[in-house]
Amino acid sequence: MKQRDYDVVIAGARCAGATLACFLAREGARVLLLDKDAMPSEHVLSTHWIAPRGMDVLDEVGVGEAVRSVTPATRIIRGNMEGKLIDLEFADDLSMYCPRRKRLDDLLQNAAVAAGARLRDRTRVTSLVRENGRVCGLRAFRGDREQTFTAGLVIGADGRHSTVARLVEAEEYLGYDAPRASYWAYWDSPGCWKSDPAYRFDAYFGFVADDMRIVFQTDHDQLLIGCSPPIERAESWRADPRGALRAAMASDPLIAGLIRGAEPVGKVRGTVKERYFFRRAAGSGWALVGDAGHHKEVALGDGMTEALLQARSLAGAIGEGNDQALARWWRARDVAAVPLHFLGRMAGGRDGPTELMSVVFSRMSRRPDLMERMVAVMERRLSPFELLPLSSVLGWTVAAGLRGRWAVFKEIIEAGRQGLALSREMRARTRLLCESGTAWEVRQDHRAGWRSRSWKSAA
Ligand SMILES: Cc1cc2nc3c(=O)[nH]c(=O)nc-3n(C[C@H](O)[C@H](O)[C@H](O)COP(=O)(O)OP(=O)(O)OC[C@H]3O[C@@H](n4cnc5c(N)ncnc54)[C@H](O)[C@@H]3O)c2cc1C
Repeated sequence: MKQRDYDVVIAGARCAGATLACFLAREGARVLLLDKDAMPSEHVLSTHWIAPRGMDVLDEVGVGEAVRSVTPATRIIRGNMEGKLIDLEFADDLSMYCPRRKRLDDLLQNAAVAAGARLRDRTRVTSLVRENGRVCGLRAFRGDREQTFTAGLVIGADGRHSTVARLVEAEEYLGYDAPRASYWAYWDSPGCWKSDPAYRFDAYFGFVADDMRIVFQTDHDQLLIGCSPPIERAESWRADPRGALRAAMASDPLIAGLIRGAEPVGKVRGTVKERYFFRRAAGSGWALVGDAGHHKEVALGDGMTEALLQARSLAGAIGEGNDQALARWWRARDVAAVPLHFLGRMAGGRDGPTELMSVVFSRMSRRPDLMERMVAVMERRLSPFELLPLSSVLGWTVAAGLRGRWAVFKEIIEAGRQGLALSREMRARTRLLCESGTAWEVRQDHRAGWRSRSWKSAA
């Protein structure tokens, strides 16, 4: 085989790309990491929530402690469903963290460089090099200067608008347009935060009218406060995001107390046109990791955790040194990620909160055992679709229906339809995984996700 410049060249140097580079370089691979942005820099279209399983990966890469030292732990999450409140509490060692992206991505890039990867920022990947149909490198511009880098493997870690995905024509599946826009800004933490008994929680997730609202603390002692209105109302937000965010937050008594008399620090940020999808994630000489291959409902706050977990597992598959291992990794990614994708579609839906959601929420708030299961879902120890016993949900539905909340009957049928669609999809994805030459076992594993799989070639 011809000598290549690198073993692996990665387009995109944030959660997915920098983490993958770190794992590979540690194993002795010659890795080049490229990004079109000047680094370190803020990721303007992302908030910051990292779940416990994502923190595990940050610990493995060696940056977990640095994240913990600059951002407070998020242990208690207050949920609000049309005025009904519940607090979900995480164990100390399973907290979430919300570091600003400039800091997080910089830590990951430094870890990759320390492990031996080469990082070149302000370098935009524009085309691929192919040999006998196999991808074997890429071309990139830094300023006016084009350069070609050859490699055994090209990775697209270049986000949801991935250039690499476009160039390899990676097909999309399970895609849909986001039903909501998202707007947010940062406020200095007010005096009442944490000192007033009304604010003795670390993060807030609320459904008020048809808006979703979030509050959490990030570094610089600031609160991120945001709102996701249905897409139909996004036009009015776009015209005056600052005014619209302020008005929405002032109508939520809990948040109003946090922003009274204060202005946001910096600009209001927002995104209107998102699309959620899976893409084929591996082919001859290439793979896609993170958002480049799978972008899910942002309300779940799980994209970075997903990218970090994928980077770790993809590094293992690359270590096997053949395209078949990459294909298996792609199929295993789908089996792991499809349930949350379905959950995101239901939870982030245009119509929420539905009657059924508020019935379930209200019942859960009185059942510590179910609250514990909810925490297990967020820790990825339990599939979201195993959260509630079917018999309980049916019982609550009938009880609510008999009290005149007729809408629950229609909603439970729709929920059942979604559940069947998910189980069909899971069977299909699992079959594809098995067909990719995998003898696989599913087991509970606290490190890798609610269901991790260990695979070996069937050969
Ligand atoms: C509104 C919003 C809120 C979100 N909130 C959260 C949250 O709270 N928690 C969470 O976990 N996730 C959240 N996410 C999702 C999260 O931002 C992504 O899942 C995550 O950033 C994916 O990481 P990545 O490394 O795959 O891609 P990215 O972080 O998007 O990084 C891709 C990199 O590729 C570079 N690049 C792109 N094209 C090229 C090219 N041609 N050449 C070279 N470089 C290129 C870009 O400059 C960028 O640096 C949110 C997303 C949105 C839209």
